[in-house]
Amino acid sequence: MVNQKVDYSGVVDILEDILGEPKLHNDYKGQISFDCPVCSYDTKELDHGDGKGNLEINYHNSVFKCWSCSETHGTHGSLYKLIKKHGNKKQLKKYEILRPDENEENSKRTYKQVKLPKEFIAFKDVSAGLKLTPQYRQAYNYIKKRNITEEMLLRYNIGFCYTGEYENRIIIPSYDENKYLNYFIARSYLVKTKLKYKNPEAQKEIIIFNEYLIDWNETVYIVEGAFDSIFIPNSIPMLGKFMSEHLFNKLYDNAKKIIIILDPDAYGDQERLYHKLNCGKLMGKVWSLKLEGDKDIADIQGDISGYKIKQID
Ligand SMILES: [Zn+2]
Repeated sequence: MVNQKVDYSGVVDILEDILGEPKLHNDYKGQISFDCPVCSYDTKELDHGDGKGNLEINYHNSVFKCWSCSETHGTHGSLYKLIKKHGNKKQLKKYEILRPDENEENSKRTYKQVKLPKEFIAFKDVSAGLKLTPQYRQAYNYIKKRNITEEMLLRYNIGFCYTGEYENRIIIPSYDENKYLNYFIARSYLVKTKLKYKNPEAQKEIIIFNEYLIDWNETVYIVEGAFDSIFIPNSIPMLGKFMSEHLFNKLYDNAKKIIIILDPDAYGDQERLYHKLNCGKLMGKVWSLKLEGDKDIADIQGDISGYKIKQID
């Protein structure tokens, strides 16, 4: 699908003509984002972009999707469709010459929409009958073992699957700022498992896990995994050891105070991340909380008052 020999600069020119200044651009992946015209002009009636950069395009795969309004306004599909709708005749013609294989017929391609597995059961919805089954008890024992409380199960809509593709896994869903599902984490609750995590195909690098719960005016905590984030209100997991460009930009534009708490074995990464964030507008607003030895993020249980935070030189 990806052909590095193809020169895509003409396609990028057309997109910039129609959509203006790109927000992010990764030309290696063919990924580029803009303010969504439907969100900005049609929905909010702005005569400029809304500054959110929610319209994500992959021009290697000739698809687009708005992470905010794709479900409500059908803002997803082939690049051909996008250019036909928002460009003029000249721009569409130019695109047809550059990409003759693209046309209305084969314009059914799309970003995959993330959906919860159909076998998903939220802990808050477990029936009295199901509570008596060994399947439920196995899942619930894992929750107890990780010190996850009833309140957390409810707050994050945590559930599990005991059959299907995500059989024997705890599911933590993620919702975007408009409360649309954009991702989920599926962690095995079996002691012996080949694959601890089995997460859906999604554009992880542009997801802010459970963004709708983030209050940017309060201290924002940066943690590694989704399971860490449920123990600290107003925290964002990086979903790995490294921070995506998208999350970095979000923090840079919105955060007032940041505290970084990674796993104790990743303190080197924590220091590097500290220095990456502590610059420009964020200078002096970033703090580091070092977890000592056997301390786990679950031990914090939402209260950092007993922990030292510091700024690093
Ligand atoms: Zn949109």
